[in-house]
Amino acid sequence: MTASVLTLNAGSSSLKFALFEEADAAPTLRGQVDRIGGAGRILADGAEFDRIDKAVTVQDHTAALAEALALIEARLGTLKPAAVGHRIVHGGPAHDRPVLLDPAVIAGLEALRPFAPLHQPHNLSGIYAAQQAFPDAHQIGCFDTGFHRSQPKLNRVFALPHRYYEQGICRYGFHGLSYAHISRVLAAEHADLAPGRVVVAHLGNGASICALKEGQSVASTMGFSALDGLPMGTRCGQIDPGVLLYMMTEERMDAAAIQRLLYHEAGLLGLSGISNDMRELEAASDPQAALAIDYFAARIQRETGAFAAVLQGVDALVFTAGIGEHSATLRARVCDGLGWLGIALDPARNRVHAREISDETSPVKVLVIPTDEEAEIARSARALLDA
Ligand code: ADP
Repeated sequence: MTASVLTLNAGSSSLKFALFEEADAAPTLRGQVDRIGGAGRILADGAEFDRIDKAVTVQDHTAALAEALALIEARLGTLKPAAVGHRIVHGGPAHDRPVLLDPAVIAGLEALRPFAPLHQPHNLSGIYAAQQAFPDAHQIGCFDTGFHRSQPKLNRVFALPHRYYEQGICRYGFHGLSYAHISRVLAAEHADLAPGRVVVAHLGNGASICALKEGQSVASTMGFSALDGLPMGTRCGQIDPGVLLYMMTEERMDAAAIQRLLYHEAGLLGLSGISNDMRELEAASDPQAALAIDYFAARIQRETGAFAAVLQGVDALVFTAGIGEHSATLRARVCDGLGWLGIALDPARNRVHAREISDETSPVKVLVIPTDEEAEIARSARALLDA
């Protein structure tokens, strides 16, 4: 039996977990605790289990992890993972690959709190909770920024005085665990496309696009923070910085108010005034919902065009994450505007979410590939243990 790996993905109000008992196999169980801090739910699923969905009230990530462990141990007996793999949003300039979380590394991650104020504190809480629960296990950090460290400097700098770059004010890119997984699937299952020029659209509640060349990240729409690029569920995406200056000087908004606006009140929710959830927007008849979807699709087209320039052409476009994997309507809308790039969709294949949804004659292949950040964390953690 191989060493088991527990993966943890601690978000602002949720904790996702998965238990991988065998290398390169599906997890025995995966689940999440939602709405930490109040009346929430714990959900879990596994091939050998009935789906679990029950109400829980947990105040913090330590309590959420205790709930998750109680649930796992009730089914599998005492858990002794060899490693706990953590999704960590920001690795800063130092981390381009998964790393053992020793005190010096953790101190470095603490210093990055201001770089990702809405994510890093929760990731750190997850690490501390896991250290308490499993003092003998290796704690391993896997970074959302790590995969993008291969980007050329040209795609990382801002046009600011160079001293800011030296202070770490640059484009990092996020969703790296998702892109690493997609790159791996391309290499394993699409050997013809993997060495080429691939645009990957990770369209979930958070959304970004990454340009891959020979399986490596060369550019991404997210930059210094997880705000830039595409509009998201509640985040603004690209915005003229002059708007922020105006809000500060004329509307007298302070940093906290601007942060709330850009992270929580903007994006699909802000534009539609209805919801951050694509399913609800697609079901709504309100013209503001239509505007939000149109804007989302238009920005994806625009960034895809930009990345075609970066890559000097495109061999494949990949859709992934909640919206990318499940909304045939959104994929069709995006692709309808990209005929000029050589993209032609097969509507029947698109409707059933086939792996390859482009027309036989389409010069650019269009694929739907489910992402799996947990599998990427488990694989990386195992690789580090074996090294
Ligand atoms: P997160 O970034 O929180 O992991 P997900 O990748 O789960 O997010 O994506 C959530 C988004 O996917 C939501 O906007 C949701 O409405 C959308 N989504 C999920 N299923 C569908 C579907 N069948 N049709 C349209 N949108 C969907």
